[in-house]
Amino acid sequence: MGERFKLSIKKIISTSSRTIDLLDRMFYNQGVDATLSLLTSDMHLEPDGENTCNPIINGKTMGNVPLTGAQSDFIPISEVVLPNGKKMKVLKTLLTSACERNCYYCPFRAGRDMRRATFQPEQMAQTFMDMQKAKLVEGLFLSSGIAGGGIRTQDKLLDTVDIIRNKYQYKGYIHLKIMPGSEHAQVERTMQLASRISINLEAPNTARLEQLAPKKTFTEELLQPLLWAEDIRRNQSPHQTWNGRWPSSVTQFVVGAVGETDLELLATSEKLYRQSSLQRAYFSAFSPVRDTPFENLPAEDPRREHRLYQASFLFRDYGFGLEEMPFDDTGNLPRETDPKLAWARTHLLTPLEINRATRTELLKIPGFGLKAVETILRQRRLNKFRDLGDLKKLGILADRAAPFILLDGRLPAQQLALF
Ligand code: SF4
Repeated sequence: MGERFKLSIKKIISTSSRTIDLLDRMFYNQGVDATLSLLTSDMHLEPDGENTCNPIINGKTMGNVPLTGAQSDFIPISEVVLPNGKKMKVLKTLLTSACERNCYYCPFRAGRDMRRATFQPEQMAQTFMDMQKAKLVEGLFLSSGIAGGGIRTQDKLLDTVDIIRNKYQYKGYIHLKIMPGSEHAQVERTMQLASRISINLEAPNTARLEQLAPKKTFTEELLQPLLWAEDIRRNQSPHQTWNGRWPSSVTQFVVGAVGETDLELLATSEKLYRQSSLQRAYFSAFSPVRDTPFENLPAEDPRREHRLYQASFLFRDYGFGLEEMPFDDTGNLPRETDPKLAWARTHLLTPLEINRATRTELLKIPGFGLKAVETILRQRRLNKFRDLGDLKKLGILADRAAPFILLDGRLPAQQLALF
């Protein structure tokens, strides 16, 4: 390592509740501050965690707006929410913002006029550990532009995380990307080191990917590593992983840039949930980036992203099949109504008796989430549900369910008013 000294230029890292002057909190190598600032700008395009959170910059979250320039004065720290509800401050960064690919939507695409930056693995590892020790971040999301091919780039990512895990003995959260075209052994090593892995498919199939990212190949470079990850999970012991467990896989789709339908996106997602134990498909509403081939395309309606998430949870968690999704003639979901309610209006024509319905049936009732269904199943062993108040006092949103249920043989009073 070179000489370490206090940051020469005052930089502020902002979190949701306070700003932190780095001068008071940590030491950096010369140039690290500027490099990190360049590498983390635009990383809000990459979702992480169970809930997508916008990065927090200077106390304000960034919205879903077209990019107008680098946030060069700040290092964004993202707050992610994990499946267990825990919130975590994560440094979301690239190892290099140089890229030889030319994906049409991406701010880092080859040939775009922008300042690029690169960390060597040791520099990145040291920088993250400094921030982690200063309690500025609790976890790392590490991705990269592709420089020298996917295999070489993946090696650099692996070198970085190997240093963090084995030299610095870090036992916390690391979400590591798998680069397009990575080899089987690299996927396996990534899974040994990471808490979560992601391989972004970007598009639902080969034809759509060609319109979005002409230098990526759908099956060989993107889908294959996802399938290898599942094969490794099923057939290999995790005893060489950092925590004794294989990490989950996630993927991301760019939504709304090339005319793909909700049916295309959800058909691919549903298949991945079934075949590759995908933990989550992220849907990222397209937002144009200046100085890219797609800069003049309109931003996608964020409601579409929301409806896709709702639909994907229906077949991931609620037992719905793809064929039950309320697609219209164009293969898209209704924007104005949530897909579970739209399904119920055409399929739940006979109200279900809450005191006798099966778990599968209860899960299909609008307003009943996973927790509500477990509560109902537990509570009805003790007492019959007789009116909406019995549900409401358990914290269940009963009004939404009212048109579709019977309580002890009777329609809830509210049902008449709703129809
Ligand atoms: S490979 Fe990744 S970083 Fe490079 S242009 Fe495509 S999306 Fe952007």
